[in-house]
Amino acid sequence: MFAKRKCSNGFSKEYPESDRMAKKKNDFDGISKEEKEDLKKILLSSEQPEDAGGENLLRPQTLDQFLGQEKAKRNLSIFIQAAKTRNEALDHIFLVSPPGLGKTTLASVIANEMGTDFKSVTAPVLDKPKDLAGILTNMQPRGVLFIDEIHRLKPQLEEMLYVAMEDFRIDWVLGQGISARTTRIPLNRFTIIGATTKAGRVSSPLYTRFGIIIRMELYPADELELIVRRSCRLLGVKLADDAVTAIASCSRGTPRIANRLIRRVRDYAVVKGSDEVTAQIVSEAMEKFDIDRNGLEAQDLRILKNLIMLYNGGPVGAETLAISVGESAQTLEDFFEPYLIRCGYIQRTSRGRVATAKAYELFSIEAGRFGNKGSLF
Ligand code: ADP
Repeated sequence: MFAKRKCSNGFSKEYPESDRMAKKKNDFDGISKEEKEDLKKILLSSEQPEDAGGENLLRPQTLDQFLGQEKAKRNLSIFIQAAKTRNEALDHIFLVSPPGLGKTTLASVIANEMGTDFKSVTAPVLDKPKDLAGILTNMQPRGVLFIDEIHRLKPQLEEMLYVAMEDFRIDWVLGQGISARTTRIPLNRFTIIGATTKAGRVSSPLYTRFGIIIRMELYPADELELIVRRSCRLLGVKLADDAVTAIASCSRGTPRIANRLIRRVRDYAVVKGSDEVTAQIVSEAMEKFDIDRNGLEAQDLRILKNLIMLYNGGPVGAETLAISVGESAQTLEDFFEPYLIRCGYIQRTSRGRVATAKAYELFSIEAGRFGNKGSLF
């Protein structure tokens, strides 16, 4: 008999029920049929990440292949070595960065370096306590569970996670009212790697349960060049040296964007009949894709223009600014803002976003022409 259930990525999988139940058979007498069904699901379910297709070809497998972020890597390799020597699970790890900087990749690299099982799930997919319980009870000793967007975990599940992270057990309530009782389900010792783009939205009880905190910053140009060279090698794309620099500088400090641009530029070169991507081809392609040589897209320019012209250079709240360009505040904060701040076009203040002198220069607008710029000028 096979049980069909939904995986974290939305695909259905079939599991040979008899195999798994034989191993995990539990004796819970006197509970309702529904509760038995729930427990059975918890003990049977097993989430495995599906292959993400082409993206996986470029995903580094080891710390050596994971380029840049040297300080984080140095610390991690010490923690991994120590955990392996003691034959223990690694401490729980919290990863914070804007999207596309390698949180998922680093988590799978860590599991690989530990030589353990890796499971991956996105927090909003976990709806009911049994969804999370099913994953936790199936964790292998020293295995790694990656929870992406952990700031979106439901409070009820968060509470289950506290106990699981600290005491490696789940307290499962059976029955209702006066007949309710708790069953303690022991778990293997494992590692949670929680990732988020918004550290501020993670509750402090959850945050404090992570022993290792890693904040990943946008990659500097030299590190991105290494990533561009590696991806081109793996994709079989011939790239001139000046083209490497050009792609790296258009990639907003983000490996995922660098990989995306390599593919688009490769397509452009094929259509142009060139077997090597040159800086000239990169420049033409970027013009077609509306990306300037610093990686700014049309939407970045719209954000800056609105900030200067509609809101007199700020301060203005993220929500208001986002609405003015038809984006969600989350996309503005996660995707656009980190790069605009890093380039020095926007400053985040307690009263809102403020355009800097550099932003005015970008549009050749005289500083102070729109509104009051205060101390920034
Ligand atoms: P995140 O989870 O932070 O959104 P991912 O881990 O999915 O980011 O990374 C996106 C892609 O960028 C990966 O498929 C990987 O190929 C590439 N990548 C990320 N970080 C690195 C790195 N340090 N070195 C090489 N490639 C990287």
